[in-house]
Amino acid sequence: MTHYPHLLAPLDLGHVTLKNRVLMGSMHTGLEETGDWDRVAEFYAARARGGVGLMVTGGMAPNREGGVFPGAAGLYTADDIANHRIVTNRVHDAGGRIAMQILHAGRYAYGKECVSASAVKSPISPFPPRELDEDGIEKQIADMVTAAERAREAGYDGVEVMGSEGYFLNQFLVTHTNHRTDRWGGTYQNRMRLPVEVVRRVRAAVGPDFIIIYRISLIDLVPDGSTWPEVVQLAKAIQAAGASMLNTGIGWHEARVPTIATSVPRRAFTWLTARLRPEVTIPVITSNRINAPDVAEAVLAEGAADMVSMARPFLADADFVAKAASGRAAEIAPCIACNQACLDHTFSGKLTSCLVNPRACHELELQYLPTATPKSIAVVGAGPAGLSAAMVAAQRGHKVTLFDRAHQIGGQLNLAKQVPGKEEFHGLVAWFATMVDRAGITLRLGTEADPASLQDFDEVIIATGVIPRDPGIAMDPDAHVLGYIDVLQGAPVGKRVAVVGAGGIGFDVAEYLVHQGTSPTEDLDLWLREWGVADPAVSRGGLAPEGPQPHPAARQVSLLQRKAEKPGRGLGKTTGWIHRASLQMKGVQMKGGMAYDRITSQGLAVTTADGPQMIPADTVVLCAGQLPERGLADALAALGIACHIIGGADVAAELDAKRAIDQGARLAARL
Ligand code: NAP
Ligand code: SF4
Repeated sequence: MTHYPHLLAPLDLGHVTLKNRVLMGSMHTGLEETGDWDRVAEFYAARARGGVGLMVTGGMAPNREGGVFPGAAGLYTADDIANHRIVTNRVHDAGGRIAMQILHAGRYAYGKECVSASAVKSPISPFPPRELDEDGIEKQIADMVTAAERAREAGYDGVEVMGSEGYFLNQFLVTHTNHRTDRWGGTYQNRMRLPVEVVRRVRAAVGPDFIIIYRISLIDLVPDGSTWPEVVQLAKAIQAAGASMLNTGIGWHEARVPTIATSVPRRAFTWLTARLRPEVTIPVITSNRINAPDVAEAVLAEGAADMVSMARPFLADADFVAKAASGRAAEIAPCIACNQACLDHTFSGKLTSCLVNPRACHELELQYLPTATPKSIAVVGAGPAGLSAAMVAAQRGHKVTLFDRAHQIGGQLNLAKQVPGKEEFHGLVAWFATMVDRAGITLRLGTEADPASLQDFDEVIIATGVIPRDPGIAMDPDAHVLGYIDVLQGAPVGKRVAVVGAGGIGFDVAEYLVHQGTSPTEDLDLWLREWGVADPAVSRGGLAPEGPQPHPAARQVSLLQRKAEKPGRGLGKTTGWIHRASLQMKGVQMKGGMAYDRITSQGLAVTTADGPQMIPADTVVLCAGQLPERGLADALAALGIACHIIGGADVAAELDAKRAIDQGARLAARL
């Protein structure tokens, strides 16, 4: 039987045939900026070996003013061409194809030199752009054409011209950012002149046998964005100008609608690609929140696109396509769309990696090589740290026994699964279960490991996790107080709730408590209404005139912390605003500067800068952080039995699955 017949079908582009319908979408990894081109090459080559049909690099600036940040990678000199050639050679040797993305950031460029259609500052940048004059526009076009020529010289199979996400070319398209009255502004015909001209001149410069992908914004999700007829007009003009394919862009970076976060329903925007496809004759690529081969296959089988772009799923698993093709889809490490190790890293100036795959962008330095000296290894705790350590150790040839006192694997991941908008965690636990099974790990669930049961192993890894911190708040005997574990395991909770602690878990618990009915993540229409997304054929930019229409909150929730700052500051850089906006829509009161005095049957008595007050609550839920669970580790130490301590049992503060999985994998790679 052929697995995924549509996804794995070749795609004929005329001068070249792609081996399948899978595109690895552009991602900024930060690797190019390290200057270690061997490492860059290995990142892409690993994905080429994994069978992806075509890859697009991270955005390369065509000139200094267009770089996303000062020092952003580009193709500026002959040296740059030689470096990029290392990448293209390695990819071609591995049987892959790769296109370079030309990314001019316009007013999103983080620097004083930034330029745009008009001098309209972006809400997400401190730098007002300089309005380009005619010569300035001509220079930008020429630089983008030069970048395409250099890409060809560097051995790329094509370029992707970035025309979406609110970057430079997109800024010319809409009156939101283009206030010009010359031939580059005013009518739509004028506003689309720049992107069309760029594609036309790039095609003239690179010749017919070179892929040109144009990334078109199908829904801007900003005020005064494009209408659907404008999108179609542009798509046709870009095709006529010589593009080989159209890739889908969704939402500007400044949009207040999540577009790729884990709470966005899977394939949430393929309805737009499906509508564009009949309007043009060149292949149309769809994207956003597609992370599994069955979803991608369904999209193609329905005729919603000719090709599927997935980006982060290739951080999670370089072998996505190879595994899908060989009937091993269950072994594909799932991207859970958390952004924690990829986009959050990018926006903190750190190298990209992946929560579920610590090897992503560390391919040369972190390797899981077969061991020459197989050992018997006990891992205690089947949460993310223990699972990661057990899996890597077993894959390397060690004989691993994994203990957990619970009757299922997953540890705290099983709590995350209960939170509306975090449904992807189900897939992560299921993947670990598959890998435990296929790696031949002996699983001892429902088993409390004690020192006696561990003494015969060559190595012992303690991954016993955390216990909730008791904040020690005085309480009346008739107060109704629950821990977050009770709540997420389904304990009854009153209608008015005070949540003590506004960390990641406090936010999750608040989301769980205000929610009722179907999770919007599982129901696209519900989700679109919740975030105020409309059809761009009806409403400009795809923003509903009536705004977000959230489902009424199930409870009245106050989310509290002691720190005087705004709650949620410690959440992920790219997702914190979504959690805050989501709770705000549900009327959650988020307050800092609390001193907790007493919990009574009436609620939580606190003292703030305004003096003592009572926060009325039927239930108070404690989400006050965690402490390492070290009981077993201490018992082993007392008996002189050496062990490795990882995950929350090692350090509970700031613990998250990213650090747990990384620490487990790195330890197991060394044993
Ligand atoms: P956390 O993020 O460290 O938050 C603990 C909260 O409890 C803080 O709001 C803290 O604020 C409060 N707190 C600490 N000590 C307290 C005390 N003695 N009395 C009262 N309040 C106290 O821990 P968490 O929420 O348990 O989350 C654990 C980890 O899981 C986090 O590091 C997080 O990264 C991860 N996680 C992440 C997400 C996510 O969305 N990415 C979701 C869930 C969990 P004050 O000290 O100001 O009161
Ligand atoms: Fe996906 Fe999270 Fe990995 Fe990023 S860090 S690739 S979002 S699983």
